[in-house]
Amino acid sequence: LPPPPPNAPIGRIDDDTYSRYAGATRFDQLPISSKTKDGLRKAEFVDMTDIQKASLPHALCGRDILGAAKTGSGKTLAFLIPVLEKLYRERWGPEFGVGSIIISPTRELGAQLFDVLKAVGKFHNFSAGLLIGGRKDVNTEKEHVNELNILVCTPGRLLQHMDETPNFDCSQLQVLVLDEADRILDVGFKKTLNAIISQLPKHRQTFLFSATQTKSVQDLARLSLKDPEYLSVHEES
Ligand code: ADP
Ligand code: MG
Repeated sequence: LPPPPPNAPIGRIDDDTYSRYAGATRFDQLPISSKTKDGLRKAEFVDMTDIQKASLPHALCGRDILGAAKTGSGKTLAFLIPVLEKLYRERWGPEFGVGSIIISPTRELGAQLFDVLKAVGKFHNFSAGLLIGGRKDVNTEKEHVNELNILVCTPGRLLQHMDETPNFDCSQLQVLVLDEADRILDVGFKKTLNAIISQLPKHRQTFLFSATQTKSVQDLARLSLKDPEYLSVHEES
């Protein structure tokens, strides 16, 4: 495997570049920014898990991903790293507004994910917010939601902002993530998700990760992904 370039590549990685990184096993072999590498190192993430090895080279090339791997396999970093890299390569700044939306099924999972984002994204200059309802006053959120670059949210709260928050603007959205999609659908958020997706710009990158591939996950994939890379990682048992 050739060593990655010394500086973070700016711009889209092409297919040749993809094949150069397809065999990477460690995060530091990937063509990612030193800010992300430092965040990973600080959080003591060194070797990639199977789903990370399979999906990150594609995701970093700008492709949509439909990823299936069981709980505990490391799906979170499989999408957080490309979210950070996409915004970094686009030179996203605080004034650009919402660049990425990450949808999580429950408050608890959203909060966990947010902690990982804070750790790994520590050296970047993006603003991020956790919009999960419950503990925070929605009116306070409404005043600040347009200043955030990365939103981690539950479907209900996100749709509430789309419907109620004056000037809520996600027209510049670069990356949409549907995390634990099977659980989002189990919780009964199908209609909410459809309403959200219909209001998002179509030109974007989308990652859909799920522990299981059900019929409803496939329906959601058809609705939200464009020509995705299908990656399924299951251990032999
Ligand atoms: P999933 O979403 O697939 O259920 P998570 O992303 O929550 O899995 O990761 C499960 C656990 O594995 C977490 O404790 C996380 O910190 C850890 N983990 C993820 N990726 C790695 C890695 N590359 N090296 C070491 N630990 C990891
Ligand atoms: Mg997860």
